[in-house]
Order: sequence, then structure tokens, then C-alpha cells
Amino acid sequence: MATLCRTILIRPIITPSFYAPSRAYSTTHEADLVVIGSGPGGYVAAIKAAQLGMKTVCVEKEPTLGGTCLNVGCIPSKAMLNNSHFYHMAKHGDLNARGVEVAPKLNLPVMLKAKEDAVKGLTGGIKALFKANKVTHLSGHGTIAGPNQVKVTSADGKVEQVNTRNILIASGSEVTPFPGIDIDEEQIVSSTGALSLKKVPEKMILIGAGVIGVELGSVWQRLGAEVTAVEFLGHVGGVGIDMEVSKLFQRTLTKQGMKFLLQTKVLSAKKQNGKITVSVEAVKDGKKQDLECDTLLVSIGRRPYTVNLGLESVGLKLDNRGRVPVNERFQTSVPSIYAIGDVIAGPMLAHKAEDEGILAVEGIAGGPVHIDYNCIPSVIYTHPEVAWVGRSEEQLKEDKVNYKVGKFPFAANSRAKTNNDQEGFVKVLGEKDTDRLLGVHIIGPNAGEMIAEATLALEYGASCEDIARVCHPHPTLSEAFREANLAAYCGKPINSI
Ligand SMILES: Cc1cc2nc3c(=O)[nH]c(=O)nc-3n(C[C@H](O)[C@H](O)[C@H](O)COP(=O)(O)OP(=O)(O)OC[C@H]3O[C@@H](n4cnc5c(N)ncnc54)[C@H](O)[C@@H]3O)c2cc1C
Repeated sequence: MATLCRTILIRPIITPSFYAPSRAYSTTHEADLVVIGSGPGGYVAAIKAAQLGMKTVCVEKEPTLGGTCLNVGCIPSKAMLNNSHFYHMAKHGDLNARGVEVAPKLNLPVMLKAKEDAVKGLTGGIKALFKANKVTHLSGHGTIAGPNQVKVTSADGKVEQVNTRNILIASGSEVTPFPGIDIDEEQIVSSTGALSLKKVPEKMILIGAGVIGVELGSVWQRLGAEVTAVEFLGHVGGVGIDMEVSKLFQRTLTKQGMKFLLQTKVLSAKKQNGKITVSVEAVKDGKKQDLECDTLLVSIGRRPYTVNLGLESVGLKLDNRGRVPVNERFQTSVPSIYAIGDVIAGPMLAHKAEDEGILAVEGIAGGPVHIDYNCIPSVIYTHPEVAWVGRSEEQLKEDKVNYKVGKFPFAANSRAKTNNDQEGFVKVLGEKDTDRLLGVHIIGPNAGEMIAEATLALEYGASCEDIARVCHPHPTLSEAFREANLAAYCGKPINSI
């Protein structure tokens, strides 16, 4: 029903006659929509726009499509996490204990090649999707030249002009630099360099124990590095993580060998004789110490990317955090210009960018626009995985919401036990009076897949009882989610005391 409404609401696209080709450019295109950036926000928006009947151009400055996510983000990091986990299982006797006797040896070039193959396959896939959906891909840097005009400068200096009804900014984000620490992407690396280290560091220090830090720290720790994370905050896992989950998460990673210096500030880092000395200071008592490593990962976050985007040409101003301000239809103060993804407010996540991209173009086509940011899941792809959606206990306390908790340990779940992979739990938060689901927090095997069911339930306003009454296949990890809801709704799960 919603899809039908959105489809028939598309306005006929009539290209205005004032779009006369300009002699100043080698080529002039005409479009209904120009998307600047081909990350998960931009490429998905471009395909959706074309499917809705818009003549769509997608401009990308990098040689491959897919943005941060496919090239240097979600995809390569998950390839390394997956394969380093296999190595770790083999190396530490987990496979032997299962009757699969192996004598593992790390072949890092092959592991890096597997990651590159995954990236190549998926970025090439977008090219094919563009072709199939008739999205025109222009390779070059896009600059807004007016409310209805984008200039595209290719690597060889050729400039093309696109006259367009609407523009969608999906220019994403870049690594936030640490003042005074120069990233060389070999020894002092950002997440990008950390995905391609040529050898396993002996000692690695992470500045930041947020999602990207612990994921990439896990990769190299599994492959043999001694990893220490220095974190300004008092917990690991970044913003929004439930504190009970965060505590178990830290304990688990510590058992795996990772060290944490929490509530500790990095002051500086100096490179000398192939080593890096990192000076840190405890937030509580100001105690200073020097740490040594051979690889330093700067992972303190990302910031919106708007370099040379031409925002000034249309009078668009950024907010105090460098983001493009938009209204609830993702429209900027210039009515023909929209923005989505990492370059606007909200969590910097690929699926958030995708959803915004689809909604923005449906809105341009005349459809309704609605997104509930409370229903955007977060996942940390370590082992065990951590995933959550909705509100945490800390947020509910702060908002003075009367809530109840239902918990179920994976140690009591038949599939987790069968697989001998039973660390963690599912924690469900429901409203005390109405039983409505408010938040789900999982630490355990496959938490990232399981959180999709919780997200669906939250989006549809399910009660804990609703979920507890839905039949779940046996034996699966998802039964732990059902049992946690049973515990939340009637106080008693079946398979745990
Ligand atoms: C190591 C790492 C791991 C991550 N893992 C996950 C994960 O597991 N799950 C998850 O949800 N998120 C993850 N993220 C975050 C995710 O990658 C981003 O949230 C997502 O890519 C944002 O999408 P986007 O489309 O807004 O921007 P981007 O993916 O940053 O894409 C923007 C694109 O725009 C292009 N561009 C910018 N300006 C111009 C211009 N003027 N002209 C032409 N092109 C331009 C850029 O070259 C880029 O290709 C990870 C990030 C990193 C760094």
C-alpha cells in the first residue's frame, strides 16, 4: 500500500527549457536528480530515484563506487574480522577441541587479498546496479554551482556541467584527525591504514575504544599483536551501549588479551627509531605515563566531509559540528538541495544513510517521509558480537521511564551450548505498565543478525508478550530473544532458573 502510494505520487519530470547547454563545459548533462557521493546513502538513493522514474546522475570522486562503507569501512573490516576469527579459533585450540585438528599458519597477504576481493566484488556490483537501473555515473569531484547546477571535475581536469531539478548531498565523512599526531597510514594509521597493515604489529595502541577501535584492535590482537586501547571515557563500545553489556564486553575482550586504559587522555605521540612513544594522562588524578608501540591506530571518530562542495555558492551554512542542516524531509534551506547520511546529524552508520537516501528521494517524488531514529540498530562485529536497538537502561532512568528487565543467558540456550559459543546474554527492556518493548541489548554469538528481529518488533510497537508468543525455530540463538521477552513479560523464562 505504502509502496503503491509512493509510486503514484511521483510528479511528472519536465526538464525546463532554460537548461541550455553551456559552451564553457566539455559536456552538459540534464537530470532530475544529481547525487553527490556513491556511499551507501548516495548509491542507494540514486538507484531508488531511477526506479521512481527520475533521470539520475551519481557523482563520485574516488575511482570506485561504494564510499567509505564498501571501500574502507564496513566491508573490508568485516572481511578481516571474519577471517581473523577463523585464525584465532584455529590458533588457540578451539578447532582442535571440536575434533578438527589443524596446525595453523598465518598467511597475511592471502587474508588481505580475500578482503580486497570482497571489496572489488561489491563495488563492481554497484556499477552493474547503476547500469541496470539506468543511473548515470560521472567520475569526478562534484561541486554545487547553483541551486540547480553541479560541476563535475574529473581527475584529468575535464569539467562537466549537470543542470538538474534537485541535488542530493551524500558526501559522507572522513577520519577525525588527532591534533598534533600525523597519520602516515603505515605506522600511525587511521582505520583505513589499519585495514591493510603489511605485517602484524608486535605492540599496537588504539586511541579510542569505540566501535571502530575495538573491531580493528580485535583483528590485529587475534593475529598476534599485543593491543592496548586508551579511552577517554570510562567504558568501551562507544555511545549508546548499555553499561551492563559494556562491562561484560570489556571483560570478554580483556580475557581475549586486549588491554584497556579507561578514563585516560592521550597527550601526544612521537615517532623515533621505528617505535612510537604515546604519552597519556589519567583523567582522575593527572598521572602521566609513556607507552611504547610499533603501530598506533587513531580511532577517535569521524567528521562530516564537505570539502570543495560549493555550499557557499548557494549560501548553505554548516552547523557547529560541520554537518549540513536539514529539515524532516532531508531538505536544506535551499529547497532544491537535500542531504543525507554521515554528512548530516545522527549516527554515522551505513544503514541509517541508506534509509535516509530512500526516504529523501521518495519525498522528492512527493511521497511521505518518516524515520524513527530510535529504531536504528547498532552492531559491534567482534566475537562475541554486541548489538542493540532502542533505549538503554541508562537512558530510561534519565528519562524517568518506569521499565522492567527481561534477561536470558546464552549459556541456557540450546544452540549456543551445542556450538560451545555461549558467552553473553539478551537483555530486553519493556515499559512496566504497558509491556511495550523499549530496547534490546545483546552480547553474544550472531547478535548482529538477531537484532534485526528486535528492530522489527520495536518499529511495529510490539509488546514483550507479542514477541514471547511468536513461534521461534529450534534450536536457534533467536530462542534466547524470545525467552528474554518471556522473562520481561511474565517474569519467568522456561529454560533458565
Ligand atoms: C572502519 C569502518 C568500519 C565501519 N563499519 C561499519 C559497519 O559495520 N556498519 C555500519 O553501519 N557502518 C560502518 N561504518 C560507517 C559507514 O561506513 C558510514 O556510516 C557510511 O559509509 C556512510 O555512508 P554515506 O553514504 O553517508 O557516506 P560515505 O560512505 O562516506 O560516502 C561518501 C562518498 O561521497 C564521495 N564524495 C564526497 N564528496 C564528494 C564530492 N564533492 N564529489 C564527488 N564525490 C564525493 C566520497 O568519495 C565517498 O565515496 C564504518 C566506518 C569505518 C571507517
